[in-house]
Amino acid sequence: MKDKIFRGIFYVAIIVWVSSLLLILGVMYPSYTSQLEKDLKTEVEILGSGIEFAGLEYLNKIELNRSIADTKRITLVNSEGIVIFDSKYDIEKLDNHSQREEIKEAREDGFAMDVRYSDTMSKKNIYVAKKLEDNSIIRIGSTQITILALVLSTIQPILFILVVAMVLSLILANRISVHIVKPINEIDVEHPSLNNVYGELRPLVNKISDKNQEKQAKIDELEVNVVEKTKESEYRKEFTANVSHELKTPLTSISGFAEIIKNGIVKEEDIPRFAGKIYDEAQRLITLVGDIIKLSQLDENAVLAKKEKIDLYNTCENIIDHLRDSSEKRNIDFTLDGEPTEIMAVEPILEEIIYNLCDNSIKYNVDGGKVYVKVGTDDGRAFISVRDTGIGIDTEDLERVCERFYRVNKSHSKEVGGTGLGLSIVKHGVAYHNATIAIESEVDVGTNIIIKFN
Ligand code: ADP
Repeated sequence: MKDKIFRGIFYVAIIVWVSSLLLILGVMYPSYTSQLEKDLKTEVEILGSGIEFAGLEYLNKIELNRSIADTKRITLVNSEGIVIFDSKYDIEKLDNHSQREEIKEAREDGFAMDVRYSDTMSKKNIYVAKKLEDNSIIRIGSTQITILALVLSTIQPILFILVVAMVLSLILANRISVHIVKPINEIDVEHPSLNNVYGELRPLVNKISDKNQEKQAKIDELEVNVVEKTKESEYRKEFTANVSHELKTPLTSISGFAEIIKNGIVKEEDIPRFAGKIYDEAQRLITLVGDIIKLSQLDENAVLAKKEKIDLYNTCENIIDHLRDSSEKRNIDFTLDGEPTEIMAVEPILEEIIYNLCDNSIKYNVDGGKVYVKVGTDDGRAFISVRDTGIGIDTEDLERVCERFYRVNKSHSKEVGGTGLGLSIVKHGVAYHNATIAIESEVDVGTNIIIKFN
């Protein structure tokens, strides 16, 4: 890159130098020519007037006009074209001038100018002629060096200047290219913001910085994805292990009881009790399988039902009614408070959420306890809260109760018919509705679960 910049600067310098020289010559030379022509015209006028006033004598005393006579050729041609005066040549040796361009033209128009180039093209002669009253023609001529000759005659100094200019351009181009390239090569691409670069490089450094940030964001995203995927696969493994375990326990019981009956070991009167146990375990299995199905449907977003307008208050009322038997069995009092509050929801999922919360508030309550269900709007968000005066949850367990199969007290949960999936289903259902869940609890005081919809 340095070489390219160096060559660029060098060529530009040389081109500028050469074109400046040509421009100067091109502008100066024509103006010099036109000034000379003007002078010649003035001088021919003066000479003409002098001759008309004093005759040929005037020309003979041309020494008076030394300045003119020295540098220019003055010629007087009579009406027949014969040269009767010439400041430079012997008139005897000069041929008839009547056919000279400027003489012919001046004879016709009174005034003429002609330019003739020497054979070598190195000089040009400018002639200005004027017709006098007696039809004679006074002519003044001057020789000017041509632009080509001017260039050739000054070729030595021009070449010298060119060499100096080239050397200067080489030194400067080298310095400038080093100055431009060095900071680029020294850019720390890993930490572009730390680079102290000149203004023109700022956009490049900013671009590198942006690209680095984009790259980092992608790496972070990939890392998060990998972590999530690993977590997910661990969850799945754990879930499968848990499911197998949870299914195996009731199935083993069922198989054991059935085997005893089959072998005739059980007395006739004990058969209903054993059959009852088989029934209970089978019910447990049915509930468990049902919960697993619900959870996997929510997991895969496989619920195709559309969201519709549902009144939270009304739904709560129905569910509390549905749970009336089990709440009354334990003498638990339900209070529903609030007002009709409509939300957009998928009915079976919403019912599942509320059912699980209310069911837990009975299962983990004390006999004669209370459950307060409240429906309303807070800060523009519809909410439902289910508060009980039950056994409460320890702070340590609070974080984990929404995990699959997590139970604070496994045997107690089993006793009350829990599967360990209820709150997990709630959590997924809440996420499905873009809602939030908050659990507040104190051991032996009670639990309050609040769900806020958007
Ligand atoms: P389960 O089917 O066992 O009830 P959940 O997922 O619904 O499973 O709840 C997980 C655990 O959280 C329960 O086993 C219980 O220990 C605790 N829990 C849930 N709700 C309450 C509540 N209202 N009061 C006290 N503990 C609760």
